[in-house]
Amino acid sequence: MPSHDVLIIGAGLAGQRAALSAAEAGASVAIISKVHPVRSHSVAAAGGINAALNPEDTWESHAFDTVKGSDYLGDQDAIEIMCREAPDQILYLEHLGVTFHRNDTGHLGTRAFGGASAARTYYVADITGHAILHVLYEQLMKRSEQIDRYEEWFTTDLLQDEEGRCIGAICRDLRNGALEVFNAKTTILASGGCGQVYTPTTNGLIVTGDGIAQAYRIGAKLMDMEMVQYHPTTLAGNGLLITEGARGEGAWLLNAEGDRFMEKYAPNKFELASRDVVSRAEQTEINEGRGFPDGTVALDITKVPRRRTLEALREIVNIGRDFAGVDITREPIHIRPGMHYIMGGIKTDSDGETTVSHLYAAGEVACVSVHGGNRLGANSLLDTLVFGRRSGAHAAARALQMPMPSTPSSWVADTEKNIAAIMNRPQGGRRIGAIKNELGETMNEYVAVFRDEAGLTKAHEIVRRLRDEATRAAIDDRGSIFNQDVIAAIELGYMLDVAETIVVGALERRECRGAQWRIDYPGRNDEEWLKHIDISMNGADVPLVSFSPVTITRWQPEERTY
Ligand SMILES: Cc1cc2nc3c(=O)[nH]c(=O)nc-3n(C[C@H](O)[C@H](O)[C@H](O)COP(=O)(O)OP(=O)(O)OC[C@H]3O[C@@H](n4cnc5c(N)ncnc54)[C@H](O)[C@@H]3O)c2cc1C
Repeated sequence: MPSHDVLIIGAGLAGQRAALSAAEAGASVAIISKVHPVRSHSVAAAGGINAALNPEDTWESHAFDTVKGSDYLGDQDAIEIMCREAPDQILYLEHLGVTFHRNDTGHLGTRAFGGASAARTYYVADITGHAILHVLYEQLMKRSEQIDRYEEWFTTDLLQDEEGRCIGAICRDLRNGALEVFNAKTTILASGGCGQVYTPTTNGLIVTGDGIAQAYRIGAKLMDMEMVQYHPTTLAGNGLLITEGARGEGAWLLNAEGDRFMEKYAPNKFELASRDVVSRAEQTEINEGRGFPDGTVALDITKVPRRRTLEALREIVNIGRDFAGVDITREPIHIRPGMHYIMGGIKTDSDGETTVSHLYAAGEVACVSVHGGNRLGANSLLDTLVFGRRSGAHAAARALQMPMPSTPSSWVADTEKNIAAIMNRPQGGRRIGAIKNELGETMNEYVAVFRDEAGLTKAHEIVRRLRDEATRAAIDDRGSIFNQDVIAAIELGYMLDVAETIVVGALERRECRGAQWRIDYPGRNDEEWLKHIDISMNGADVPLVSFSPVTITRWQPEERTY
């Protein structure tokens, strides 16, 4: 049975950064990923990573922008930590070999991003996540004596001892279907977000909320789950992202009448207001009939010099050409707000500790909460690195002071039974794909940029029905080698759990804050709602809601304008 000091589930940026810091602290580490690590979704990150590294910039300014961007729901102690540690993370990556853009003077160059009062986004063209992920992976390989990589292994369940401590996980080797108990003193979930709960989404097929649901099922609290970010510039239909870097480089948003409408909604920042503000502005233009017939507005990247676009935004040149048939260097491209990111997740402190003993979480799966009601673009990569590092160090320090728990290998029996039950379902129920599509479309209709009680209640009813249908959804592949059918059935269960917590959180918060815009409860209501919504599972399998305070250190809530 594999036994390690620290078990890390997920090998995107958060997981890899956690693995390196746990190894540096002297721990033996296992890192598990359901896909090859460099195919983790962090590889898609495009526009860059924030840090106040320039001498004219300050961490306080970065922190204030983040607090304001969060609509005052972010915990300010955690935000301070993130913004103070940001410059060191950029230098760490640069020294490892990440080829960040350099300006004409040879210094690290930045681009502007939304909601920021200074240009503080460091980038590698529009492939920043790709560049960082590969460099970190080289370091994992270099440390292979301490870090065991389990690539294409799928974690199905977390394990707890009688006192409720997390003592590892059960994982399936995708190559042959074998189940294995992974014994661990401490476990870090770094398994990413849950974009596939929505259709369309900018997130890839693997982003199915597994870790959020696994932690929830063993009693961990989730927090801020209602806060789902719609990115302002996604392609209609397929949801592909056009990076905010385009607006950072100077692109304009235009409605079908040719008006640069952001002037009305954010007269100081225009296209570079925070994402929730821009997405609402676009949706308002579309809803009020000033959009195009395909339910979009236009992003005009021709404002950016062509040479610069070809150099700094080359991936979106390809996306425009290949997926919309548009040469973005010569004509505007139609875009609309689309699901992109979850600010909520497993509730943690600033060392990554969750409410389940010996279980940590970092990256998009976690909610520290540094993003509150709305994440600023380019703060997520930063979150993965800062809190990935801190979780790895803390989990290692704890693990090095305790004996290895002993987990009987017979604990795979329940998982074996569950998988056999999926394999043996009779044909005839709804298809997994059909249930998933209905889920995604329901969330995109009722739990999107604008929300109200009637729509959310309807979404909740549909999610409950789909949960029931999912238990009968049949699969075709009954084999053991790379059986993606059985994985899809398990992932569907995770997505439905996560969807329910999002809907319940959105029903609960009766105000407008960040991404949660309740048209039936206009305005932000600090008196009643300046608090986090925590959600946990109670015995009756119904989400249990409680509240926790927002930590305010130095920035009192103010009216938020851009
Ligand atoms: C298109 C796009 C562009 C973006 N651009 C930016 C940007 O420019 N700047 C920015 O700051 N943010 C950006 N973001 C957001 C950012 O990329 C993500 O929030 C971040 O990379 C998440 O990293 P992570 O390590 O938490 O998770 P991921 O990179 O998603 O990694 C999750 C890992 O968990 C593993 N895993 C999941 N479930 C299981 C399971 N059951 N068993 C085993 N392994 C499992 C996966 O295999 C993977 O290794 C972007 C997001 C998208 C979608």
